[in-house]
Amino acid sequence: MSKVLVATRNPGKLREYLALFHGTAFEITDLNSEGIDVEISETGSTFAENATLKAIAYSGYSSLPVVADDSGLEVDALGGEPGVNSARYAGPEATDQQRTSLLVRKLEGVPIDKRTARFRAVIAVADKGRTVGVFEGTCEGLISLEPAGVQGFGYDPVFYVPELGKTMAELSMDEKNRLSHRGKAASQTLEFLNEYLSR
Ligand code: IMP
Repeated sequence: MSKVLVATRNPGKLREYLALFHGTAFEITDLNSEGIDVEISETGSTFAENATLKAIAYSGYSSLPVVADDSGLEVDALGGEPGVNSARYAGPEATDQQRTSLLVRKLEGVPIDKRTARFRAVIAVADKGRTVGVFEGTCEGLISLEPAGVQGFGYDPVFYVPELGKTMAELSMDEKNRLSHRGKAASQTLEFLNEYLSR
């Protein structure tokens, strides 16, 4: 089995990666398990820039192939906010609940058909200090009027998926991974790693 370093400390993301890589040819490890305690600032202005800079930087601390994702929510009525600032929306110390409350407050009075949004995830793969692949996935939905569900993390309780009639936080892990931005980017990443690591 080949080992791959998933460069995250976000427990919600890590749970999803463990499920996404389960049953594949790859075993996942993460920053804490590898004893890597450096923090890389996300100074880029796009998801792709941030994913790439994280992947390259962490590749300097490990001989393993590194998978780094930068992801977030784009709300059309807010001109694409919170975007790359999704994790820091409502301030650096805010909780997921404070971020989702702020979002719902900002959308007060916006009718449901104007509450369109998408999750976007960009995964960069780096090996020996250079980027070898970049993959993107999106998932379209609507920001609900109030939160529902307890699964997932982040903005999941207010991200309504019209096809399923549920918020992301009401989906099982498998259901979310089948349609999510991260699930889509990860399936391209897995296809790539199968090819890249068998060379
Ligand atoms: P980053 O990729 O570490 O910069 O953080 C992304 C932030 O976007 C997370 O902290 C969440 O707030 C949000 N986010 C990204 N993906 C998801 C998701 O699948 N569900 C809910 N929120 C997400």
